[in-house]
Amino acid sequence: MAKILIVEDNALNIKLFCDLLAAHGHEPEAVTDSRTALDAARAFDPDLVITDIQLPHVSGLDLIRLIRKDDELGRVPIMAVTAYSARGDEERIRAAGAQAYVSKPISVVRFAETVDELLKGDDTPEIDNPESQANQSDESPGPSEAGGEEDA
Ligand code: MN
Repeated sequence: MAKILIVEDNALNIKLFCDLLAAHGHEPEAVTDSRTALDAARAFDPDLVITDIQLPHVSGLDLIRLIRKDDELGRVPIMAVTAYSARGDEERIRAAGAQAYVSKPISVVRFAETVDELLKGDDTPEIDNPESQANQSDESPGPSEAGGEEDA
């Protein structure tokens, strides 16, 4: 069981994510206002943060950066969820400091698998200088990891 903080402004998505996580034996807590998310995270001490990107007030990207800079939360894994996947979004999200990215509408299976992977946590990312990761695209492992576009 893991404590998972969800930052999401859409009530239906909150219910969906909470139900899914609870069904997998986790303890979810939801925050709808991103301005309170950092304090909520410090209080809840989550094993994983799942954040929407399209949030009013503090954007998901800014929230990810704030978490990464936080002394207590800096190493918590972050999974981003976003309805828009324009070219370059995944790179921006990862450069901000998230380890995983799932598009809405979510695939329930992929959502659950990604949560499991992040909670295993054996590939803790180098997060000391997230900006530098944006400049290392030359070292991307190959086409299978590049993902995103589907020609079908
Ligand atoms: Mn949203």
